[in-house]
Amino acid sequence: AADLARAESLIATIPDFPEPGILFRDISPLLADAAGLRTVAEAMVAPFAGTFDVVAGVEARGFLLAGALAVASGTGLAPIRKAGKLPRPAGSVDYALEYGTATIEMSDDLAPGTRVLLVDDVLATGGTLRAGQQLLEQLGYALAGTAVLMELAELGGRDVCGPVHSVFTV
Ligand code: 5GP
Repeated sequence: AADLARAESLIATIPDFPEPGILFRDISPLLADAAGLRTVAEAMVAPFAGTFDVVAGVEARGFLLAGALAVASGTGLAPIRKAGKLPRPAGSVDYALEYGTATIEMSDDLAPGTRVLLVDDVLATGGTLRAGQQLLEQLGYALAGTAVLMELAELGGRDVCGPVHSVFTV
């Protein structure tokens, strides 16, 4: 618990980024801390031990955690990318942003039924992780769980994307 409290204290809170009125949580100082990174990587996967084969991280900050989680749990990793980045996209989901829409894509390198732990850094409105869940379903993978480092509870993301394991809730 002391390790987790220390890790949380390393997340910086930045006012007015990327726009006025937004309070941005910057996880970079936590990622740079060896003990902090290990602590949160282990805490993100703990409830799902033995239940997944691959960690899927959402571009871009989800990637930073997905690699650490995969190595910590002895699994593989699969990237979920913004549209246009993958050479062989096999599935695609559009979702709404505050202004406009976004699209995420994934390859079908995994065997059907592969158990996937879906991860991202921050759960805000939930649109991104909901789209990730739909993408995994579209490709015939099994959702083992959804995990984030930090949940911004007042935005209600949990109502959009269902049960989520969050290490920190603010
Ligand atoms: P949502 O789709 O849940 O509204 O937004 C989640 C996405 O936006 C995540 O991919 C996350 O990286 C990014 N995001 C939203 N707010 C923050 C924040 O305060 N800090 C960080 N690091 N990412 C954020």
